[in-house]
Formats: sequence, structure tokens, C-alpha cells
Amino acid sequence: MKEISVQTHSRAEMIDITAAVQKAVREEKIEKGFCLVYTPHTTAAVTINENADPDVPRDILAALDRAVPLSANYRHAEGNSAAHVKSSLVGASELVIIENGRLVLGTWQSIFFCEFDGPRTRKVLISIIAG
Ligand code: ZN
Repeated sequence: MKEISVQTHSRAEMIDITAAVQKAVREEKIEKGFCLVYTPHTTAAVTINENADPDVPRDILAALDRAVPLSANYRHAEGNSAAHVKSSLVGASELVIIENGRLVLGTWQSIFFCEFDGPRTRKVLISIIAG
């Protein structure tokens, strides 16, 4: 298992971590298999989406804000229930195919770390399965 540290800079943010994940795959020297990208946090997530137009992650964050307002009649006393809900909606992990030592991603796809309760220093764990 490998660990990537991600420093976030705002309350909600999507950070492209594809290069760091690809580097971890390269270091394992595995030609074929799977790469699990997982974040062990309850107010963050991992997703795959478009990297070309920065308005796409902005629109995703804005849509999540509309769907899950910052304040509603939440019970959780910490005050970050919206971030917990977004974390569950987006999900804590992505599994990516490895072929010829590289992540199999579409031309416009990147792996994003999603911060919903930043800024913080976060962890992303990478587990590579050969085969
Ligand atoms: Zn909380």
C-alpha cells in the first residue's frame, strides 16, 4: 500500500491526483492489474471525471452544493453534515485497470481527490493488485 498526501486549500475542492497515482503504479512495476484509490476520510471522496475543462469540477462542486446545502436541519453537532453526505454520495474509492504498466483512463479522464470540509491535509491510499 502506498500513501499520497494531499493538501487542500478551500472548503470544497477537486484536486487532480492522476500523476501521483500513476507514479505509484510505475514504482510497483506491475504490467497488468488493478489500482484501488481510496481515501480514509468521512468528509472527502475520490472520483473520476473530466480534466480538460476546469469548469467541469466547478460545476460538479456547485451541483453538489445545490443538492446538499451547507446548512439544513442536520442533527450532527460538528456542523459538517453536508460534507459527510457529499462524501457518501461521491464515494471513498475508485478502482482503475492497469494495462502495460499504466492506468487505463479515457482521454479526458482524471482521478480527483474531492475535499468537502477543508482546508486540511488529507491522505489517499493506493493498493495495487497484480493479475
Ligand atoms: Zn462531522
